[in-house]
Amino acid sequence: MTAHDTPAASVLETIGETPLVELDAAPQSVPVYAKVETFNPGGSVKDRIGKHILQRLLERGEVSSGGTVVEPTAGNTGIGMAIAARQLDLQPVFVVPDGFSEEKERLMAALGAEVVNVPGEGGMSGATDRAREIAEQREDAVVPQQFATPLNAEAHYETTGQEILDTLGEEIGAVVAGVGSGGTLMGIARAVSERVPGVRVVAVEPEGSTFGTLLGEAREEADYKTEGIGTHDPDVAELLDPDAIDEIVAVSDREAHAELNRLAAEEGHLVGSSAGAASVAARETAERIAEGDLDAPAETVATVFPDSGERYLSKNIYGSFEAWEGKA
Ligand code: PMP
Repeated sequence: MTAHDTPAASVLETIGETPLVELDAAPQSVPVYAKVETFNPGGSVKDRIGKHILQRLLERGEVSSGGTVVEPTAGNTGIGMAIAARQLDLQPVFVVPDGFSEEKERLMAALGAEVVNVPGEGGMSGATDRAREIAEQREDAVVPQQFATPLNAEAHYETTGQEILDTLGEEIGAVVAGVGSGGTLMGIARAVSERVPGVRVVAVEPEGSTFGTLLGEAREEADYKTEGIGTHDPDVAELLDPDAIDEIVAVSDREAHAELNRLAAEEGHLVGSSAGAASVAARETAERIAEGDLDAPAETVATVFPDSGERYLSKNIYGSFEAWEGKA
């Protein structure tokens, strides 16, 4: 945990060092630990990359103080990057495809960002094109591009992954994380596998997403409600290295929803749907290790809860599955 014996100089210093909490609903013999990223000031794992990416871009002179940062994002990255940008004297502009959670947009605006909406049909690639156009029109603007910049995974290599190692030492059998850009999983996997050779690396996507095709698995493209992970265009996640992943697990919306509701009611974790999916996959992995069905260098599993369920109240995340699906 963050040392509280000295005051933080700014909110930026409060990012990271989040608690790693043992889950109740895991096999006795193989504990599951979740890095609870809702403890970050912007409420998600993305505060880490906002801070790291912008600090490095400033150090490298790719943008200077007073300049603009333009990023295509569905939300959490915008929130994290808005916090860092304003503290580092940069103006944040975010290009958001329609259809994502409204709370996230409001939070980005509250944090001093300009929000530009683009039609949802164009997806993240439409948002990226628009972000580049905006950057070209402004003087001293940079598009960090979380889906392409190695600084994204580097943030997790240097912070999230090291923190998990600091807490668990080499007692890590598997790391399990949802994949959007792939930065979280790749950074943690790289840090942990340096110290724990053979650690099992498990990516998580919603059913209907097609990252699994990168490992030659059959996938049927379909819509899904789980937010923040998954894709219909696996090539978009340039950071994701299929050779570094042992398995890509698909979790249905129904399972993710049931699990995030269980996590709230039984374990006191207010987390979003991507955390629900990660928890399902992490518990399954732990059960397979406990039953001797999976080779792993230790009998523990580490996972990540990326953000809070409060961010999706307007989408009826708590309660019946039908209400979340928009069918009730
Ligand atoms: N969960 C949520 C809620 C997210 O916003 C994101 C980022 N899109 C992820 C998980 C996945 O993180 P990453 O981009 O590092 O793969």
